[in-house]
Amino acid sequence: MDTIYVVGHKNPDTDSICSAIAYAGLKEKIGISAKAASSGEINDETRFVLGRFGFAPPDRIGDASGKKLVLVDHNEAQQSPDNADKAQIIEVIDHHKIDFKCSVPVYFRNEPVGCTATIIADMYEDAGVKITGGIAGLLLSAILSDTVVFKSQTTTEKDRAASKRLAKIAGIKNTEEFGIEVKTAKASLAGKSAEALIFMDYKDFTFNGKKVGIGQIEVVGMEEVNSRKAELIAGIASVMKKNGNDAVLLMATDIIAEGTDLLATGNIKPLEKAFGKKISNDSVYLPKVMSRKKDVVPLLEKAF
Ligand code: MG
Ligand code: MG
Ligand code: MG
Repeated sequence: MDTIYVVGHKNPDTDSICSAIAYAGLKEKIGISAKAASSGEINDETRFVLGRFGFAPPDRIGDASGKKLVLVDHNEAQQSPDNADKAQIIEVIDHHKIDFKCSVPVYFRNEPVGCTATIIADMYEDAGVKITGGIAGLLLSAILSDTVVFKSQTTTEKDRAASKRLAKIAGIKNTEEFGIEVKTAKASLAGKSAEALIFMDYKDFTFNGKKVGIGQIEVVGMEEVNSRKAELIAGIASVMKKNGNDAVLLMATDIIAEGTDLLATGNIKPLEKAFGKKISNDSVYLPKVMSRKKDVVPLLEKAF
């Protein structure tokens, strides 16, 4: 039997990695040969989470052609590993907007919840498989990461309920406190280049034929962002040029103040239209904006 590779999106975040590990584990428990894989460099936050619960980072998938794949935490082809179009996609488990095409039937499970890990936790229950402490820790961390410790608009009652169950199994006493610990594991910008920060959690979208890249960094206070703003804007301009993007945005999201400083340069007209605000000095502060998926992508889609 061919091994199934469970893989998340490029520029993997904690949900992409932890949901892949947990779902591959569930497959194995029910007698199906499966392996978690990553589709890019693992970030500091995910590294912290894996270490905390005693897991090694999954191997890079490399060329996906000819492999059997389960996609988690994404469904859009441009976010999939290289040559996924030449792979056999057998399942998709996700919580994002749907832009997926396949010429054969696949098991496709998409739920409007804050995190793929919430769905995976349910799938363990559906299968009657007990979640171990380590897997519970991974899934809980993914939920805390994606929902920004339940502060993001994307948070649902299902995410909160799953977190409660998982925290108990993982032996995490104070979930919020642990969530801040997870989030601050990648909150420092020190020692990272402007481009590394732009690509740390980055996705390309196509809005009305325009290629728009959106990166997001999470910070505690805006001091570091403000002091490196010129450098970040230069990085945005260079990424636009190199990758042929019509726009590149960087969301600097303050997880404590609950707002986003949106950095952009170039043709900012559609961006001003999207947010109904003037972009001055290459940035605009958007209070309450935390989520790329809920607060930013739909507005841009409309504006373009
Ligand atoms: Mg993700
Ligand atoms: Mg996710
Ligand atoms: Mg994310």
